[in-house]
Amino acid sequence: MNHGSLSPRRPAREVKVGPVTMGGRAAIVIQSMNATDTRDVAATLAQIERLAAAGCHLTRVAIPDLEAARALDEIVRRSPLPVVADIHFDHRLAIAAVENGAAKIRINPGNIGGPQKLREVVDCCRAHGVPIRVGVNAGSLSREMLQKHGGIGAPALVDSALTAVRAVETAGLTDIVISAKASDPALTIAVNRALARETDYPLHLGVTEAGTPENGRVRAAVALGTLLAEGIGDTIRISLTADPVLEVEAAWTILQALGLVRRGATLVSCPTCGRTEVDLVPLAAEVERRIAGIRRPLTVAVMGCPVNGPGEARAADVGIAGGRGEFLLFARGEVLARVPESEAVEQLLALIAERFPEEETDADSR
Ligand code: SF4
Repeated sequence: MNHGSLSPRRPAREVKVGPVTMGGRAAIVIQSMNATDTRDVAATLAQIERLAAAGCHLTRVAIPDLEAARALDEIVRRSPLPVVADIHFDHRLAIAAVENGAAKIRINPGNIGGPQKLREVVDCCRAHGVPIRVGVNAGSLSREMLQKHGGIGAPALVDSALTAVRAVETAGLTDIVISAKASDPALTIAVNRALARETDYPLHLGVTEAGTPENGRVRAAVALGTLLAEGIGDTIRISLTADPVLEVEAAWTILQALGLVRRGATLVSCPTCGRTEVDLVPLAAEVERRIAGIRRPLTVAVMGCPVNGPGEARAADVGIAGGRGEFLLFARGEVLARVPESEAVEQLLALIAERFPEEETDADSR
């Protein structure tokens, strides 16, 4: 939860994406994008199931042709998550996607074929109660925008996004979500700050081409963490060159780090120092792996020494602090027992199971 350390959330207007609400007082929506061929219904649904199990709220699929648009019908009927259709260039694909059950479509109104074709898409969206995400990208700004603003930068991206929004509004729809993405975190921050000032539509945050999981998570956390701390952002997608389930896990980590959600176990562990007399690094990794399935909000500490350990980790619900060949087992700063190093992990897990049984949980903050 926001403990008052963050800026108040920017009040965005509410947009419904199937059963999911973006903006308003709704929790920040975590989304991802399928890496599967949408025409392969079984593979796409299998990946959506995995995304849902990881805590994803919404997924997007690419619609490169009519076959993919038609596949949506079965995907949407069997999907546990609302499905967003990603369309470029061809307005007929956008219409087909909506008619086949897409909960939202993502288009760039500038490349959908002109005002008349955009109006046909908008008419179809209105008839089906489907919102549009207007998505602009630093890598695909129009020549006109680049010339007008002297190249890629926040002014060109903001102008491009707002021009696209006006085009959709003029065509008759105000159920709009905006995304303006760049691979540069600083540019992503600048653009979304400006959009937050200029409009009250929900903002979809993301860093494009963020990279491999290691690099991409940091780049996304810098950009999205900054914006979210300023109260900006209603839905997030962490783009990684990896299994999309990792995107969802990264999104949860960012939201948990800011206190915007309380869900699942969080490991806090010390960096180790000259006082450490146990082999803490593999042990912390093992604890992190073993608590990954816990859905109850819980903070677990793994500390290197008894001098500072239980005290430093007083805020943790449970923890262990290493000594010479043994660990102290503690809860909220209170030492409960001394256990041999070889039993420390099992004893910690037993304590968690005893004090924080899963059946009591209401894991998800949404
Ligand atoms: S908890 Fe102890 S071992 Fe870990 S960094 Fe602090 S002083 Fe060092």
